[in-house]
Amino acid sequence: MLERYADVVETRIPIRGIDGVCLNLKVPGKKPRVIINSSNSRLRRRFTEAHELGHIIIPWHMGTIVDHLDPEHVESSDDYWVFEEEANQFAAELLMPSPWLGELIESTPNLSTAHKRICERCEVSALAASRRLGSLLPENIVFVCQKDNEERHR
Ligand SMILES: [Zn+2]
Repeated sequence: MLERYADVVETRIPIRGIDGVCLNLKVPGKKPRVIINSSNSRLRRRFTEAHELGHIIIPWHMGTIVDHLDPEHVESSDDYWVFEEEANQFAAELLMPSPWLGELIESTPNLSTAHKRICERCEVSALAASRRLGSLLPENIVFVCQKDNEERHR
């Protein structure tokens, strides 16, 4: 899907902690260009691709955006984090659509089973599935995903 909107390259990015780069966003006469860090796991690359598609589709994301793995090493404007959150929400909705999740949560009382199903059906990491599941649960329910699970689902 991303390739319909952009020239996509997967390559090892030698700078530490970069998931991907999006170039030529909303530049007249130029097709966006996306670089995905090939060093990351397949599931992480998949989420990054959906995230970059968000930058391309969302009208006010312009120019060049570098996506860092570790937010603490980035000194950027407040807009950067707003854009990142918007692209993450876009990616989460694209890969784990809320109508489908709503039905899943209603029909699957065991959250661990629901989480596993999200990971398998949506091809997302345990962490991404956990965040998405947590965002859709009632306020009095907490779902936690441990790092071990993240490694196991890769
Ligand atoms: Zn981004």
